[in-house]
Amino acid sequence: MALSLICPTKEPAPWVAAIKAMAPELDLRVWPDDGDKADVTFALVWAQPQGIFSQYPNLQVIASMGAGVDSLLQDTSIPTQVSVVRMVDPRLVSQMGDYVLAAVLNHVRQFPDYGRHQKQQRWQPLSPRNVDAVTVGIMGLGQIGRSVATRLSQVGFHVTGWARRAKAIANVKVFAGPQQLSDFLAASEILVCLLPLTVETENILSMETLGQLPRGAYVINVARGNHLVEEDLLSLINNNSLAGACLDVFRQEPLPPEHPFWFHPQITITPHIASLTDTVSVAPQIVENYRRMTVGEPLLNQVDMRRGY
Ligand code: NDP
Repeated sequence: MALSLICPTKEPAPWVAAIKAMAPELDLRVWPDDGDKADVTFALVWAQPQGIFSQYPNLQVIASMGAGVDSLLQDTSIPTQVSVVRMVDPRLVSQMGDYVLAAVLNHVRQFPDYGRHQKQQRWQPLSPRNVDAVTVGIMGLGQIGRSVATRLSQVGFHVTGWARRAKAIANVKVFAGPQQLSDFLAASEILVCLLPLTVETENILSMETLGQLPRGAYVINVARGNHLVEEDLLSLINNNSLAGACLDVFRQEPLPPEHPFWFHPQITITPHIASLTDTVSVAPQIVENYRRMTVGEPLLNQVDMRRGY
């Protein structure tokens, strides 16, 4: 039994160090020099070459290095008997809370406007809005969305959320399913997308949905680029239906140099850094899942392959 790290776009050294520190005895290998592929039972992956899993005849578990599994699940070489797990981690959750809170307050306290005024040496106080007068709607109330919703409500925002299934979260009004989406959107002055990318949620931020937000609403997408129909967002900002957007994720990453988002005064972009996996923080769940695999116990943070998240 061995664990192979397959992460061509990430530096493997910090992962190796964090796992070795917890489990020095674990047979840990790094693709592409991972020896006899028949030894590998556990793959820890990010941006793996498509089709690679067919090379590993004894694979039992594939672990995503991040919270999202959308690109991993597109790989048709994942054998049906293999379990897929993902990272669920308090640091990942709290970093996302920091980012969303910063983006929401940046908008509510009009920092982008003051930035433009500063360039013109223009001293012009704008009337601020109180946080309890602003409704923030969170799409996706999972491990991350639920915590972000609670954090914003503790700061004083009026917070609503939307998920597939109804649920109770203190001080958060929850809407569920496609039939309640319009009511949720109609009240969301700031919309935060924290959905997983699935067949159902791809292109969910479109003219049809964004057009139902209140006039002057603001959009924050920290989930995946393919949730957003980029041209629809641009049209709605350009015709003043929306005030602007803060985007961390894009259809094409890195964002191409000619992309209009780079130049739009009402769009703030960041390079997919809203929340980054901390190797030391997630190493215990990797080692624990490896142990569970060896003794046949139920795995932590298993992905439901039918739902796609
Ligand atoms: P979870 O799987 O824990 O939660 C997903 C939530 O989305 C659930 O509340 C689920 O509803 C809801 N949902 C899924 N499908 C639908 C649907 N069709 N309609 C309505 N609601 C739906 O995910 P996490 O909270 O851990 O992560 C969310 C996403 O955030 C990740 O998939 C990833 O793409 C993104 N992310 C981005 C990062 C960044 O740096 N930009 C970093 C980390 C994550 P229900 O509760 O009813 O099942």
